[in-house]
Amino acid sequence: MNIESINPANGESVATYKAMTSKEVKHIIDESDLDWKNWRKTSFDERSQLMHKAAEVLRENKASYAELMTLEMGKVLKDGESEIEKCAWVCDYYADNAKEFLKDHKVDTEASNSFISYKPIGIVLAVMPWNFPFWQVMRFAAPALMAGNAGVLKHASNVSGCAIAIEKAFQKAGFPKNIFRTLIIPSNQVAEVIKNEKVKAVTLTGSTPAGKSVAAIAGSQIKKTVLELGGSDPYIILEDADLELAAKTCATSRLINNGQSCISAKRFIVVKEVKAEFEKLLSKYMSERVVGDPLDKRTDLGPMARMDLRDELHDQVTKSKEMGANCILGGVIDHNSEGAFYPPTILTDVKWGSPAYHEELFGPVASIIEASNEKEAIEIANDSFFGLGAAVFTKDLKRGEYIAKDEIEAGCCFVNDFVKSDPRLPFGGVKGSGYGRELSAYGIKEFVNIKTVYIK
Ligand code: NAP
Repeated sequence: MNIESINPANGESVATYKAMTSKEVKHIIDESDLDWKNWRKTSFDERSQLMHKAAEVLRENKASYAELMTLEMGKVLKDGESEIEKCAWVCDYYADNAKEFLKDHKVDTEASNSFISYKPIGIVLAVMPWNFPFWQVMRFAAPALMAGNAGVLKHASNVSGCAIAIEKAFQKAGFPKNIFRTLIIPSNQVAEVIKNEKVKAVTLTGSTPAGKSVAAIAGSQIKKTVLELGGSDPYIILEDADLELAAKTCATSRLINNGQSCISAKRFIVVKEVKAEFEKLLSKYMSERVVGDPLDKRTDLGPMARMDLRDELHDQVTKSKEMGANCILGGVIDHNSEGAFYPPTILTDVKWGSPAYHEELFGPVASIIEASNEKEAIEIANDSFFGLGAAVFTKDLKRGEYIAKDEIEAGCCFVNDFVKSDPRLPFGGVKGSGYGRELSAYGIKEFVNIKTVYIK
């Protein structure tokens, strides 16, 4: 079987990869397990040196990695370069902090000595999405490897070139060959990897159906999972918001990565007094973006990652319009283009029951929903299957803090800013957005044996 990367800007083939056989996959896992048996005994200082080196390799190859992402999934070049910088940051962050995060923790009991020790568990399988081809992987790999685990990656099929480049980056940095390996396999081969007894846990970032399937198989094998799934982040715009700031920030967040980010702003819940003004400003900022060739440095928005994803998004827009939403910007496909382009689009007066109200719109489409007051805005924000991120816009910081902390059902809530991931802060969702946390001290403790040692 072959796995192909197709350039979404023009529909041309970038490369074709031969999928690995079950025998090849098993061999890689066996080798990885052998290397892990030595790796688990290395000191934090040794691992730290290598992880800093990985950061250097990433920075040195920033331009070529960014170009590869552009070719495989349409990310604009300048965003790819920032993504690689962020990957280097997460490597440096865990290289500097893993030792402190995972140091033994003494607990006073009746014993002469009792403490908690954080021990590596072995090979962790990472099933990853295409939208941030390097960042999604590095934010798993940096803590996992620093904790003394080994990683095997099953990346999204359309970014196999990135998957191979990441494996090579770790090898270039001097990591033992099999401590981070890439498996070129289709998703129907993931079950056999999870069932391999040498694979101890699974982390998946991706859609809800993929998460359900992987978690069910892992559960049947008593293997832990972390799931980072979709989101439909609500952004509440209150009547006392700085509307310029709100509209600018919302446009930026909605269009990051061409709208294909789990933590993009997706639903805009606007209090009725300011709805008309917010719509005007959001239209202004969303329509200002330059759409075009993602390799051109002047471009802000490239194509979506795949044609089928573009068509799926357009179906959601069409159905939402049929169910009463008004399209005040975009919403029309240019069929003369060979690429998977979709224009910045705004749907307003989005109705309960329609796709734009309940589903994740994974592309450059904003859904505006009117609320009569703060209480109703919070209810609408929480009326969602998802619970990844959220934001509130108000000039009253105490009011914003209260809503963010006590009212919103999400893994994070930002006030007067858009949601972003940061190595120093835990990242993850509640409800249908998944469970477990990545990044920060919490992320590195997901895949360790939290071991009690008790000495009488
Ligand atoms: P996807 O279709 O679920 O794919 C994600 C990964 O899972 C890919 O490697 C895919 O492989 C694999 N996969 C798909 N179905 C599978 C199955 N039944 N069993 C095992 N593996 C399976 O998601 P996507 O379209 O790439 O990514 C978009 C989704 O990811 C969005 O919902 C987005 O919100 C979410 N996401 C979440 C976060 C977060 O941190 N919460 C971050 C980024 C993205 P193939 O490519 O070979 O199918």
